Amino acid sequence: MIPYVTETPDIRIPANLLPADGRFGAGPSKVRPESVEALSAVSRTYLGTSHRQTTVKSVVGSLRAGLASLFSLPDGYEVLLGNGGTTCFWDAATFGLIEAKSQHLSFGEFSSKFAAAAAQAPHLGDPEVITSVVGTHPLPIARDDVDLYALTHNETSTGVMMPILRPAGAALPADGGGLVAVDATSGAGGLAVDAAEFDAYYFAPQKCFGSDGGLWVALLSPAAVERIGVIAATGRWVPASMDLTIALDNSRLDQTYNTPALATLFLFDDQVRWFNDNGGLGFSVGRSDRSAEILYTWADNADFASPFVTREQDRSHVIGTIDFDDSIDAAMVAKVLRANGIVDTEPYRKLGRNQLRIAMFPAIDPEDVAALCASITYVVGALAQ
Ligand SMILES: *Cc1c(COP(=O)(O)O)cnc(C)c1O
Repeated sequence: MIPYVTETPDIRIPANLLPADGRFGAGPSKVRPESVEALSAVSRTYLGTSHRQTTVKSVVGSLRAGLASLFSLPDGYEVLLGNGGTTCFWDAATFGLIEAKSQHLSFGEFSSKFAAAAAQAPHLGDPEVITSVVGTHPLPIARDDVDLYALTHNETSTGVMMPILRPAGAALPADGGGLVAVDATSGAGGLAVDAAEFDAYYFAPQKCFGSDGGLWVALLSPAAVERIGVIAATGRWVPASMDLTIALDNSRLDQTYNTPALATLFLFDDQVRWFNDNGGLGFSVGRSDRSAEILYTWADNADFASPFVTREQDRSHVIGTIDFDDSIDAAMVAKVLRANGIVDTEPYRKLGRNQLRIAMFPAIDPEDVAALCASITYVVGALAQ
């Protein structure tokens, strides 16, 4: 049998409709050209130098102080970092933050993974996993035997965001309640958050922070720092690269346990500076808010598209998922966009819907989101010819 092949039709989007920058991927995502130029300017004195010396340690120090300022961290909170990205932090937390039993909100591909890591750990009891249908999010439930509640600020696979709040009725960790640990990989920097509502807010720099992957950062409350010590005192075996006591000691010295990617650190710090120099989290969140307003208003008004997430307050301001009418092949729209230099609008592969997924991280210009909407309308019209 001859395989069925569809050619991408030769549709050229008029130049005046195209966004200035065509990167709309959910991660790795747009890195600002200004950050790359700044990196290039210091390349001969910074890249290829020791991460145990002042040149690199000052960038790590600046990054840690910049994040503490960006998130208005209260006294006693600490900024930890280590290698391996968010996925490795899940393993580190499975070893070093969960004492016996965790509760996970599972509402998409990413939030389900930490739950799976905890379920497989032989040293932990079975986690409680609370699910909801795709395109929605569940809420945590206060329980006496749960010592860590695992939330996800933005479920990148479905485009659902949720407010970060301690479970209703739960005791504070200082009074014996569980820690609140938030996967904020795609939300941090683009969604508002109050540090009083979390004990661990962790992420990686390849989404809102316009850098590359491979690093994790965790903002920890005093209760979370204390938990690391409590678990270590039990003598639980932990591989050194996953050991949060080692990460804590090194972070306090503005280092990582093993060699980090220096370019990633620099681009990350540059983005945090850009946020802080322009007003902080209000500035960066404001850019994503504006982009979201543009995207969802366009989708609501288009007769061929609609937002996938039903409840307006659940529609993510950093990742938009837009369903298309059955008469339009969204995958073909993504292909035509790609041929025109607009990349990574394909939907999350496992969601399996006729949709486009569009990142609206702070680095992405709201005007470019508007231009993307106009470009999609043009492509849909041209495909119908
Ligand atoms: C991207 C993403 C991850 C995975 O991050 P890595 O750094 O690749 O491990 C985890 N959780 C969420 C919500 C994400 O968006």
